Amino acid sequence: MAEKLLKFVSVSRAMPDKRPAAERRADFGEIYAGFAARFAQVQASRCSQCGVPFCQVHCPLNNNIPDWLKLTAEGRLEEAYEISAATNTFPEICGRICPQDRLCEGNCVIEQSGHGTVTIGAIEKHVTDTAFEMGWVQPVKPIRELGQSIGIIGAGPAGLSAGEALRRKGYQVTIYDRHDRVGGLLIYGIPNFKLDKQVVVRREKLLREGGIKFELNIEIGRDISLDDLRQRHDAVLIATGVYKARDLAAPGSGAKGIVPALQYLTAANRDGLGDNVAEIASGELSARDKNVVVIGGGDTAMDCVRTAIRQGARSVKCLYRRDRANMPGSQREVANAEEEGVEFIWQSAPAAFLDDEAGKVKAVRAERIHLGMPDGTGRQTPRVIEGSAFDLPADLVVKALGFEPEDLPQRLKAPALSITKANTVRVNWRNLTTTIPGVFAAGDIVRGASLVVWAIRDGRDAAAGIDTYLQESSRKAAAE
Ligand SMILES: Cc1cc2nc3c(=O)[nH]c(=O)nc-3n(C[C@H](O)[C@H](O)[C@H](O)COP(=O)(O)OP(=O)(O)OC[C@H]3O[C@@H](n4cnc5c(N)ncnc54)[C@H](O)[C@@H]3O)c2cc1C
Ligand code: SF4
Repeated sequence: MAEKLLKFVSVSRAMPDKRPAAERRADFGEIYAGFAARFAQVQASRCSQCGVPFCQVHCPLNNNIPDWLKLTAEGRLEEAYEISAATNTFPEICGRICPQDRLCEGNCVIEQSGHGTVTIGAIEKHVTDTAFEMGWVQPVKPIRELGQSIGIIGAGPAGLSAGEALRRKGYQVTIYDRHDRVGGLLIYGIPNFKLDKQVVVRREKLLREGGIKFELNIEIGRDISLDDLRQRHDAVLIATGVYKARDLAAPGSGAKGIVPALQYLTAANRDGLGDNVAEIASGELSARDKNVVVIGGGDTAMDCVRTAIRQGARSVKCLYRRDRANMPGSQREVANAEEEGVEFIWQSAPAAFLDDEAGKVKAVRAERIHLGMPDGTGRQTPRVIEGSAFDLPADLVVKALGFEPEDLPQRLKAPALSITKANTVRVNWRNLTTTIPGVFAAGDIVRGASLVVWAIRDGRDAAAGIDTYLQESSRKAAAE
């Protein structure tokens, strides 16, 4: 039965069922169930169909959210899927992992008026998962094949969304990645309990069926130079992400058992994918039976603490120098971590790491922090409280302090590639061109560490820039 809209006055906001914390702790499965069809329909009917939809304005992809909510409420899921997929290359992925509280849902008008947001992300996931089940999601079929080819460096969301958009137009697309699998951080960063890896693999299959070629285990700059790649293709897109982990300078930080977050998460993800991971087997990168301390307050730190819980850690503590209200990580993820048994130690920072005779970490010496006056950015300045040191026993310490771009001109052996002060690739934001003709860039490597949805948006914009560039090149060649 079709649902009327504006039901937010009579129907309360509800999320799909979340598995009990005790059950979640024991496996790496996603924590939310899917919406039942009828339930999604009723939740979609809460939308107030605003004249100016702030949800859409604050979605980086400007998804036509009110339209697909209306169609879902009316039970017209195939059309809802068509509208959703018209602006989003991977709606089922965004529905799962976008921080909706900061984007679409956080700006939903009925949320602002105190009724609780429409569950946009969960409905987006439901619509696309249903579309896959029903066979409505098909590989791209270009109307005509074009002779020009594009080489994309990086098979993360930016590279994949650009690849899909270009292939749709008929270009020949090859995506290169230094990893053995497609997906970038979707596969080796974000844990399975947030994004089931089969969801990523399902997309990869579709992209291959649509004619995109993947060249894996190839590192541009080591195996092929950017120059050679540029000779091979009519245009090149750099979508390499950011991988230089911020480090700690505290005494003892070189002790064994202190590891960077991505190394830890990649090992856990590979293990989950069935790879034989020596560092997990040896215990080096496993939290089993250990006291684990994770340092940092972002989403990566949340992924680490929750991974450690699932690996069977004895205790898991998160050390963060600011308070809960100032955490960069999503409040939803903090709540999930707390439910699963993570202890947060707010306003505390590591001062030193203590090790045993074998050079293995045995404790983190931390100091309490006072949050002082706001600085130029408006954030309160953290100050160490003298004489407040305390020790936390630790057999495994994970550093999750964020990521910065690597020195890309040096890594790609491309000195003509201009970068910004923050080491991101300098682009013209109108079309995402770099300082090398025919070379474009998208995703984290132009924004700094950001979000999947922004990477998809950049990929889409870069594809439009590449299309215009190639059409102009063809016109010029024809005129000569
Ligand atoms: C632990 C973690 C959790 C996160 N959780 C979320 C979340 O919940 N929600 C969210 O929206 N965002 C999240 N993010 C951020 C999100 O993953 C990134 O913003 C997004 O993946 C960026 O996409 P990208 O395509 O620019 O880069 P990436 O996903 O990093 O992909 C870049 C690809 O380029 C390849 N590459 C790099 N250099 C070369 C080279 N020289 N030659 C060949 N290949 C190369 C890499 O192997 C990689 O596969 C998280 C990030 C991390 C680290
Ligand atoms: S892509 Fe992200 S921000 Fe946009 S509607 Fe979907 S969940 Fe919201």
